[in-house]
Parts: sequence; structure tokens; C-alpha cells
Amino acid sequence: MNMTAMFEGGSRRATPIRDLGLTIQGTALEPILETFEREITAAGITRIRPRFYLSTEWGVPYESIAIAIPFYLARPELTMLQAEQACHVEGSGPKDILKYLRHEMGHVINYAYKLYETKEWLERFGSMEKPYEDEYRPRPFSREFVHHLPGWYAQKHPDEDWAETFAIWMTPGLDWRKEFAKWPGAHRKLEYCARIMTELVDREPLITKAEFDEDVAGLSISLEQFYKGVVGTSNERPAELEQLLRNIFTEAEPSNVRLAASDLIRRIQHDLPASVYQWTGHLPERTRWLLEFLAERADAMELTYGVEQEPRLTIAVTSLVTALAMNWLQSGQYVP
Ligand SMILES: [Zn+2]
Repeated sequence: MNMTAMFEGGSRRATPIRDLGLTIQGTALEPILETFEREITAAGITRIRPRFYLSTEWGVPYESIAIAIPFYLARPELTMLQAEQACHVEGSGPKDILKYLRHEMGHVINYAYKLYETKEWLERFGSMEKPYEDEYRPRPFSREFVHHLPGWYAQKHPDEDWAETFAIWMTPGLDWRKEFAKWPGAHRKLEYCARIMTELVDREPLITKAEFDEDVAGLSISLEQFYKGVVGTSNERPAELEQLLRNIFTEAEPSNVRLAASDLIRRIQHDLPASVYQWTGHLPERTRWLLEFLAERADAMELTYGVEQEPRLTIAVTSLVTALAMNWLQSGQYVP
């Protein structure tokens, strides 16, 4: 039984999230947070201890030292539901969760010491006033930014640029001087981070309050409502895509065993959105929508393929979707 069916079968799907009894205590998150606390100490940060709580997504409420962790990481079945519904889990295992925690710690340090008000910080990262756009358009492989979280996340906003830089600096065992030797812009930001962190060692933070914005204990929405908003939609249904899809599938050699093209497209739906996001910054929910659209069109055109062509066609569809994602980033359209 898949996770959607499991939740649809039970009443939990309609239960307010606050009534699911979610806590950090006693879960697999606890030992990870203990590891993280040790990392903080090892990084020389002794004046600040962030507070952790469960919320809808990763984040640090502005001017606070609280780190919000997505509630779906508190239980394995919720993590699986997230993977199925959103095609993207931010924190796919202990290692990945630590990457997110280091990033969030960057926000904590930024707010605690109001670094964003200082001249040096502003010169390197820019103004916090810059609009915060969910659909940012990164330039993949830009040497001005570090790369840490998927989607060239440092390019989203000055605050994220700093948080990503800080996360790299904080990563145990990472030789960032060597790793970013050929990324001069990113390297300069890392040098600044390393210096400022030495200066802050004995300084008391200006902000110490922990604000729990959207605490899981107060979430009145249900899982059903939570995932309704995740479904990516677009008004754009470019007719050209049908032709591209037909080219891919009708070039396939004749075969005795033929399968529906839509099945192949839907099979890659599980892994492709996160992967495309990692390298392009094209949002996972958009890729999922795109694949669903392609699958629908493939059915309408009754496209099929020979079973022995599957590896080649999987690569073909993946490349097509990646190219479309890049178009979207550059022009806001899949087929400009
Ligand atoms: Zn962030």
C-alpha cells in the first residue's frame, strides 16, 4: 500500500497537524541534534545555543535564534508521505539534515549579531531588503556563490547567500579553502565568514529570543490541506511539447513488448524533480507538474515504446525535462 492510500484510509489525513502528537523528543531527530550541538561547540560558538522546534518547513523566524525543522522529519511515515506528495524531502537522512541545520545556524548567527546591518556584510551579500522570491532564477555554477543546499540556493537572497557560506565554513572536515579555490567570489565570502566568526567568539549576542513561528503545536491545518497547496500548477501547456514527445517515442525501434510511454514518464516522477532542482533551481513541484502534463499528452497520443528501449528513453525524457527547466529559469517559459 502506498503512503497516500494509507493516510487516505485513516482519519489522520483530516486531523489537524497539531493533534498528531509530533515532538522532537524520542525521535530520530534527537541524536542528530546532539551531533549538531557538538558541531556548534567544535566551531567555537559558545555564546549562542539555538532552540529547535517543529514547523511546516526549515527556517529561522526573523530576529530570533529558533530553528524550525519540518514536522515531516519527526516520523518515517510522514517523511514518506512528503516524498510522495511533494517529490522533495529536505533532509533525506542524518547527513542531509545536518546540512540544513548548518544552513539555519547561519541565519541564527546573522540575526543574533545583526551582521546584516554591518557595512562589510552589506558589501559582500547585499541588502536584506531585496525581495524574497520563491521562484528565484539562479545562474548554475556561478563562481560568486558557494554551493551547499540544492538549487543553487545561495542565489535566492542575500540572507541565503550568507547562510550557505556559513554552512560551508561550519562543515566539519571540509577544506573550503581548497574546495572553493577556483571560485573566487565564493572564496572571498568564506574568508570573511571565517574572520568574523573569530571576532565573535567572545562577544555576547544582541538577540537571544527564540520565537516559534508556525509551531507544530498550533497548526490547525490537516495533512490533506497541507499537501493541497504543494501541487504545482501552470497555465502554460505548450503544444510544442507534444511534438517533442512524439519525436522521442516514435524513434524507438519496433518491438514485440510495447508499454505505455506515460508509465515510463510517471516512473521517473519519483526521483527526477529533486534531481532537476539540484542542478537548475527549477522547483520540484513544477517538474512534477511538467511530467504529469507530458504523461497526459503521451496517453492522449497513445505513445508506446519497446521494453528494451527503456534506459535510452529514460535518458531522453530526463534531458528534455532538464532543458525545459533551464528555459523556464531563463525566460519564464518552457518553450519561449
Ligand atoms: Zn535559509
